[in-house]
Amino acid sequence: MVEEVVCYSCGEAVKPFVEWRCIRCGSPAVLRYDREFAVSKIKRDVHSMWRYVEFLPPSMRKRIISLGEGDTPLIKASTPNILMKLEYVNPSGSFKDRGSAGMLTSLRNTVEDVKGVCEDSSGNAGASVAAYCASIGLPCVIFGGESMVYEKALQVRTYGAELEVVKGSREEVAATAVREAERRGYIYVGHAWNPYFLEGMKTTAYEIAEQTGWNLPEEIYLPVSAGTLLIGLINGFAEMVEAGVVEKTPKIVAVQPQANPPLYTAYKKTSPPEADVGKSVADALSLRNPPRLRQMVDMLRAVKGDVEIVSEDEILKAHKQLGWLGVHAEPSSAVAYAAVRRKLDDIVASDIDVLVIVTGMGLKSTEILKLVQ
Ligand SMILES: [Zn+2]
Repeated sequence: MVEEVVCYSCGEAVKPFVEWRCIRCGSPAVLRYDREFAVSKIKRDVHSMWRYVEFLPPSMRKRIISLGEGDTPLIKASTPNILMKLEYVNPSGSFKDRGSAGMLTSLRNTVEDVKGVCEDSSGNAGASVAAYCASIGLPCVIFGGESMVYEKALQVRTYGAELEVVKGSREEVAATAVREAERRGYIYVGHAWNPYFLEGMKTTAYEIAEQTGWNLPEEIYLPVSAGTLLIGLINGFAEMVEAGVVEKTPKIVAVQPQANPPLYTAYKKTSPPEADVGKSVADALSLRNPPRLRQMVDMLRAVKGDVEIVSEDEILKAHKQLGWLGVHAEPSSAVAYAAVRRKLDDIVASDIDVLVIVTGMGLKSTEILKLVQ
């Protein structure tokens, strides 16, 4: 079976893993391969994201690297028609583990003699990549900004990865990671750029469909920064719609903090009212120019999705209320529920099901919460 990596914008061929973006136009790459979803091909005896291995790219189907990611709980919370997908119940405490497991599996099957990898991250993806590298003894350097929270930095070090803190914007952190990968002869696997990472995230859509008995909720709310989950979800649902397994893609609502809403600005073609803070408590949503912004806008538009912004006060109240429901989310993850919380009365009175993806665990941001509580 054919598997190709091509530029999202111009279609130029991109060398897997060796080139981290299109050398012609600088855009991120995407994967092309035969996609065919079929319920009969689900590996029912596997209780992780790998039960969907048959729908992943060919390079991801052997010598699998896994810490047991996926198969996360789907619960009813506060009212019968609000569902929560607890993605923080993944090995490193965040949804990124699906992307990391998939990406590193493909790397191992695609490039021989990998000496090590470099990744840049606000925290969760770095911790996740570090965990999976540790599981196979692969050297790993994580580049974080000065605002990386203590808990995530500690997590990276706990997994035995090198952590380099870089001054400057998230984009400068990424540029440093690329340079350092070249200098060391390592592979740059920045999750905001890597096309394989998106493919692992796709399993979230399959899992939601299977856990709801193929009756998808009408609306799905999720926090968005680099957009890997957003793109993965839309791709996964599209495949299931194409296969006739589900009726249609749910309304996808991306949520961002008012203090940093690049997707909102691009999608709505308008700037939001100025936020009352410079820096949001949503530390994981810090990318100001996500590389896949154009792709996110295109894909969200194609499925008639929406983008909402929430204030700092709303994020903190949502975080607190989630706690009262037994859900300990990090503030960056509470942004999605903050948007739902606004419409709670309407949702309760309606007959639609709304699903919130809770992406990261609250224990990852205790210092931030201590400052604001
Ligand atoms: Zn290109």
